[in-house]
Amino acid sequence: MAGYSILVDTSKCTACRGCQVACKQWNQLPGTHTKNAGSHQNPSDLSFETYKLVRFSEGQNGDGKPYWYFFSEQCRHCLSPGCMGSAEKEEIIQDEKTGAVIFTPNTKDLKFKTVLEDCPYGIPRQDPQSKVMAKCNMCNDRIAAGMIPACVKSCPTGAMIFGERDKVLAESKKRVEDLKKTFPKAAALNADDVRVIYVVKDDPKKYWKLAAGK
Ligand code: SF4
Ligand code: SF4
Repeated sequence: MAGYSILVDTSKCTACRGCQVACKQWNQLPGTHTKNAGSHQNPSDLSFETYKLVRFSEGQNGDGKPYWYFFSEQCRHCLSPGCMGSAEKEEIIQDEKTGAVIFTPNTKDLKFKTVLEDCPYGIPRQDPQSKVMAKCNMCNDRIAAGMIPACVKSCPTGAMIFGERDKVLAESKKRVEDLKKTFPKAAALNADDVRVIYVVKDDPKKYWKLAAGK
């Protein structure tokens, strides 16, 4: 099954957060009440009502020069999804055509701590009231209707692209090769294992940290 993939080229991301807002809009998710936590990252984390979050990460390199990176975080839609490990009755399904990994309302019957621990990227979140778990579903409904995911549609810089997996893999390889001319650490993160492929130009640890509780 080839299915689809999404490329997130962080070197082209301007942190406009169009993707974050488009995700909320398409999935009819409410806004989140937030507080200023000393960062432009807002809200401060993913939640059962925030499936897409532009992470802001700043620090200092060994040579004293600052860096400021943006990482449009979401479920990676793994080819072998760890989150499905404890599912027995199709509480979590993998769409055969697209490859999207989809949490159903029956996730309320799974143990949240186990599902979260089984995800290498700390993505799943749970509604404290209903106990249903939630995350990005790759806009599987849009894809079925011939449209591209809302986040990709909204991206004004070309940081995100969507398409057949083979083509997205080829594009990510090309972008890494181009970036490597200037940034030797450029890489496509875990491209063989995930459908949402992040291209970075520096050490991935500078962009993204595991969610609290992992
Ligand atoms: Fe499941 Fe986590 Fe992979 Fe998403 S990133 S498919 S939640 S294991
Ligand atoms: Fe970055 Fe594109 Fe998302 Fe804007 S829409 S934050 S440029 S990935």
